[in-house]
Amino acid sequence: MLVLMSTTRRGFLTAAGVTAAQNMAHAQDHDHDHQAVPSDPALRTKALESLLVEKGLVDPAALDALIDTFEHKVGPRNGARVVARAWVDPAYKQRLLADAPAAIAELGYTSGQGEHMLVVENGPKVHNLVVCTLCSCYPWPVLGLPPVWYKSAPYRSRAVIDPRGVLHEFGTQLAEDCEVHVWDSTAELRYLVLPERPAGTANLTEEELAALVTRDAIIGVAKVPPPGEKA
Ligand code: FE
Repeated sequence: MLVLMSTTRRGFLTAAGVTAAQNMAHAQDHDHDHQAVPSDPALRTKALESLLVEKGLVDPAALDALIDTFEHKVGPRNGARVVARAWVDPAYKQRLLADAPAAIAELGYTSGQGEHMLVVENGPKVHNLVVCTLCSCYPWPVLGLPPVWYKSAPYRSRAVIDPRGVLHEFGTQLAEDCEVHVWDSTAELRYLVLPERPAGTANLTEEELAALVTRDAIIGVAKVPPPGEKA
């Protein structure tokens, strides 16, 4: 279903398409698993969806709205609230770093795909970036569904090979002496980045802080913008 979603990362995906074509040529050389073409489940889902829409059983606009809700509102908002709580409550932050699933459950966010999680903290000298090189493992209870680019073969490979290049394409500049740590999610362990609290937020409430936190910052491809600056 997610193959239908549009993305705001057009530039990245256009470049991604070129690499995907190269990967496809590469995949013909040997037989291990490269997912350069949509997977069987993705194709089956698309076929099923087309049929349901054709028979009038599903309204594609309603479906898009539902996916959009999970992808952009419900999911990432949960993660944003976790981040904001950690920023204002040092004891909560310690619990979050020590036992992420338990601390996240304190805020009522429990569901599948998030039973085992690790929170990694950004700072002036360390920037964390999350990827799933194998497929698209993602912490659903805090972030909802993964965006299209997160599942793309180019992001999955380039986040590891050239993390600074990928960050640059997302408009994220890091200081020269800032290390980049790349975390490879699996079905067993998923990651949440605790971004740096931006300057100029000392007087904001927890709710106002949460409103600043973006999905991309929690994946680690972006920083949280200071108030008044667009993400
Ligand atoms: Fe995966």
